[in-house]
Amino acid sequence: MTNLTDRLGAQVRTAAGRTPEASTDMEFWTGLSAAVIELIADNWEKTAVAYSAGRQQHYFSAEFLMGRAMLNNLTNLGLVDDAKRAVKSFGKNLTDILESEHDAALGNGGLGRLAACFLDSCATQNLPVTGYGILYRYGLFKQSFADGFQQEHPDPWMEEGYPFVIRREEEQRIVPFADMTVRAIPYDMPITGYGTKNVGTLRLWKSEPMEEFDYDAFNSQRFTDAIVERERVNDLCRVLYPNDTTYEGKVLRVRQQYFFVSASLQAMVDNYVAHHGTDMSDFAKYNCIQLNDTHPVLAIPELMRLLLDEHDMTWEAAWEIVTQTFAYTNHTVLAEALETWEYSIFEKIFPRILDIVKEIDRRFRVELEAAGYDHGKVEYMAPIKNGRIHMAWIACYAAYSINGVAALHTEIIKSETLHDWHEIWPEKFNNKTNGVTPRRWLQQCNPRLAALLTRLLGSDAWVTDLDKLKELEKYADDESVLRELIEIKHANKVDFARWIEAREGVSISPDAIFDVQIKRLHEYKRQLMNALYLLDLYFRIKDNPDWDVTPRVAVFGAKAAPGYVRAKAIIKLINEIARLVNNDEEIGDKLKVVFVENYNVSPAEHIIPAADISEQISTAGKEASGTGNMKFMMNGALTLGTLDGANVEIVEAVGDDNAYIFGAKVEELPALRENYDPRYAYESVPGLKRALDALTDGTLDDDHTGMFHDLVRSLLESPGYESADVYYVLGDFASFRETRDQMAEDYCDELAWAKKCWINITNSGRFSSDRTIADYSRDVWKLEATPI
Ligand SMILES: *Cc1c(COP(=O)(O)O)cnc(C)c1O
Repeated sequence: MTNLTDRLGAQVRTAAGRTPEASTDMEFWTGLSAAVIELIADNWEKTAVAYSAGRQQHYFSAEFLMGRAMLNNLTNLGLVDDAKRAVKSFGKNLTDILESEHDAALGNGGLGRLAACFLDSCATQNLPVTGYGILYRYGLFKQSFADGFQQEHPDPWMEEGYPFVIRREEEQRIVPFADMTVRAIPYDMPITGYGTKNVGTLRLWKSEPMEEFDYDAFNSQRFTDAIVERERVNDLCRVLYPNDTTYEGKVLRVRQQYFFVSASLQAMVDNYVAHHGTDMSDFAKYNCIQLNDTHPVLAIPELMRLLLDEHDMTWEAAWEIVTQTFAYTNHTVLAEALETWEYSIFEKIFPRILDIVKEIDRRFRVELEAAGYDHGKVEYMAPIKNGRIHMAWIACYAAYSINGVAALHTEIIKSETLHDWHEIWPEKFNNKTNGVTPRRWLQQCNPRLAALLTRLLGSDAWVTDLDKLKELEKYADDESVLRELIEIKHANKVDFARWIEAREGVSISPDAIFDVQIKRLHEYKRQLMNALYLLDLYFRIKDNPDWDVTPRVAVFGAKAAPGYVRAKAIIKLINEIARLVNNDEEIGDKLKVVFVENYNVSPAEHIIPAADISEQISTAGKEASGTGNMKFMMNGALTLGTLDGANVEIVEAVGDDNAYIFGAKVEELPALRENYDPRYAYESVPGLKRALDALTDGTLDDDHTGMFHDLVRSLLESPGYESADVYYVLGDFASFRETRDQMAEDYCDELAWAKKCWINITNSGRFSSDRTIADYSRDVWKLEATPI
């Protein structure tokens, strides 16, 4: 690009209204984004035109955890060096400008980040795929700690302007509810691919009132009346996952879901009509829709409505199309996470959709009874039961494909969660092990390692074909390569230590083991077990000040759902442990505990390249896949984990010697639980009693909230409706402690450790989302690459 500098100067002036020299980093970021849009605009349109005529896949997801866009776009377009130069010519530094970008945190965690990685892979492979979601005004809350307690703040991520979404006024649709009618305006985000001209699209819908405000009311000085309706419409897209503990919260959530699927389907149907005419029979030939979990399942009755009411089809003909259009991804085996909604919500906001769901339910019952299934089973599986509508059951009935997200998870849904459906429709079930994009999670976040891989391979072919790294496994015993790997990790750790010192004010030694657990805070992920280990380790060091223990830095990053009291207690606990340990002179560098505030995609990009250990310690059977585990593996951190989710496949890829596996296996747990007595574990497992007692004997302070007592109670006492220690924290503790201790000893053998890291990196190919997307595309979507 000869004139990125000129373009940048002009765009910064436009954004800032002053000379580039006087402009802020944020204004430079805005100007640079606008320059990027300018460069891709023509190809973006060409791509959209090419995709609209053929078979397309539509990825429906309530969440897209995109993170920052700039570096990703510059890298994909091959513009990083140009941008550096352009920015430098104005006396600025590209790193500072990149760091001024807000994360687009339109998601909670793994499920939303998966959707983002998928879009990246689809664009890179020139696949005709479009993402559809909601333009939340506020993304996932911003987290801060006040005296160790989590506090939540709004995240107005695009308030300062965000050039990477384009409002498409002329593409708006109307979404009718019984009690309001809203305009849906699409905001399109370009999705660039690596080394291709194709530019895909993420379409995010924003709700707006039919009329800006009630002019008459305003004119007659009833100012509040004039804007009330407008605010009700704006509420619709205000926040990601509004608190749904109240009835009103649930109504809002269902409204959000219907809003974005209805607008998306209307656009798809219109596109079909424009290209193929008003005979809808071939709709499924040209369109398929992947439902990312149950949040977009309302698309099933909504497509029925469009075909029945607006295209005059018969029920049979419409159902035929619907059942060839939808594919459903299940993301969890936790029963409480399978969405059901009150019948009355549907009645209140879309009676027509309720009618259609009732008819689906009726026909389902007739079909299954006729096939001879017993009444009890039919009753259990029916979409409507006890005044509630079961979204997963609708999805399983209507979808032509049902997939889990890791081999183990798919086996569990087949044998347990969705056992009855599998028995009737085994052909629908398939596995698609998750993956992550190696562009963001290796090439961009770890440039030092990326350069080494490119040099040894003689090309950067690994960036789009991660299996190529396997060819480098032969260097596993090459001391000079291993030494280089050690230096790279060390340099990344120095960078991270600086970053964390500036951010959290904790000083850490890059010579320590960086032992990291970053993910949403949930009891099944067992951050509490990690915390108990650290307490125990602290006491052991105190007991024995001369112990030549390998220094450790334990790093945490996690947000707790605002209403999840126990998860918030665990955050407070870890912060109290950090306070205790980090301020103890006797401990010094032997142990430090760091809780990174406001964990998000960008912090993850700083943390992962510096990690030595990837904590993946969920109770076996509970984590569907995990994707954090894959990001760590690619960056040469060793998995310390249970045989859960994709950990199983990671160990399969690297071999037992190159991961630290502990704890009960899924198939062992039922028998273990039969005779499980957490009190016995508490009394007898080395270190456990002392660590647990510290929560309540005054060693650690929960500020008189009683929350630490509750944590101990949750492990030792059964409240009646569930057993004590549901997640088997105390049951797995001995095995966890032994394995983690062993890991710390092994770390001292630098070269042996580096070899393990190298084997992890070079065997991470199958965890690229390019592989996952190739699998979906071939087996489920039946798509053809469409390069422009
Ligand atoms: C990858 C990622 C996750 C998912 O992490 P898991 O360890 O798989 O639960 C969550 N949040 C962010 C910001 C991520 O980047």
